[in-house]
Amino acid sequence: MSGSGAQGSAFPITDGGGAVEGGGSARDAHFMGLALEEARLAALFGEVPVGAVVVRGDEVLAASGNRRERDQDPCGHAELIAIRAAAKAVGSWRLEGCEVYVTLEPCPMCAGAMVLSRVQRVAYGCPDPKGGFLGSLADLSGFPGLNHRFAVSAGIEGERCSEQLRQFFRDLRAVKRRARLGGAP
Ligand SMILES: [Zn+2]
Repeated sequence: MSGSGAQGSAFPITDGGGAVEGGGSARDAHFMGLALEEARLAALFGEVPVGAVVVRGDEVLAASGNRRERDQDPCGHAELIAIRAAAKAVGSWRLEGCEVYVTLEPCPMCAGAMVLSRVQRVAYGCPDPKGGFLGSLADLSGFPGLNHRFAVSAGIEGERCSEQLRQFFRDLRAVKRRARLGGAP
């Protein structure tokens, strides 16, 4: 089981908003596909599969998977790493006009980074009812008093994103079960 909080908990599927501002759904599916690939690669290293890309127009500025285990970094979330790399790529901490695609609803830290970097839009795959701060537990994208707001599209490729996470935890449980049975024939 996870017990891992954000970047890995349970994720019931919702249809999400799908209220897509701007980009058409084929474009969203394309970029979320890249984020899903980042997540898949992260899982090969034992990471909870979460992936993110930051795009401006049709240009991918940065991409990352979750790196929490590899780096033993509590802040090593995919979207935070991608946001920092994107800022480096454009030479500015202001990511105005940029969009973040992330497979799982961002946690408070990452949603906060999205406010601070002034992204234009965030599209996420599946909600995180135990940690999500773009709609589930709270919504920092339009939080009263904060000086930046951004658009959010939920449920982009939501089924693929939640299935990827479910499969990861299924496999993890199977591995643990086998380990428990240890020396048994
Ligand atoms: Zn996060």
